[in-house]
Amino acid sequence: MSCIVAIVGRPNVGKSTLFNRLIKRREAIVDAVSGVTRDRHYGKTDWNGREFSIIDTGGYVVGSDDVFEQEIDKQVELAIDEADAIVFVVDAEAGVTGLDEDVANLLRKVEKPIFLAVNKVDTAKREADALEFYSLGLGEYYTISSINGSGTGDLLDAVVAAL
Ligand code: GDP
Ligand code: MG
Repeated sequence: MSCIVAIVGRPNVGKSTLFNRLIKRREAIVDAVSGVTRDRHYGKTDWNGREFSIIDTGGYVVGSDDVFEQEIDKQVELAIDEADAIVFVVDAEAGVTGLDEDVANLLRKVEKPIFLAVNKVDTAKREADALEFYSLGLGEYYTISSINGSGTGDLLDAVVAAL
């Protein structure tokens, strides 16, 4: 079975944009127990000759601006259960938010490789804005732009090396 990488983070940070950029084909996975398609997006891709699946865990909060911590909990739980590595996406434009801190606190307990991706770093000028994400206490981060693709190669190099 191929490895699974989960993309987690609060709404609007760019998880789905990153997912869509990274995947090569989509899979509809049907839950064996309930018999319904789960409200998550799965895709397949490969990098450096390594094939793996990606989950966009934010699927079930689409259309809702009102996200409760419970929902975030659920998202991270899914990642813990299913993923071999986790990409935690935050937004350099918005800076650190309370929900980012909630996610970081949950991820701190996870004994799987976690990659902090500071998204929306579309220009070199914005690199400095990413520094504040050290306050999440997750160590080093990768600055990326899911819109123009910059930085995603370095992120994937690191992710694939951990699988
Ligand atoms: P999600 O809720 O985390 O899945 O976020 P989406 O992928 O739906 O993106 C939320 C918004 O951020 C959309 O308007 C995207 O176009 C925008 N966005 C995503 N990635 C980037 C990026 O790298 N740079 C900029 N400037 N905007 C982005
Ligand atoms: Mg989304």
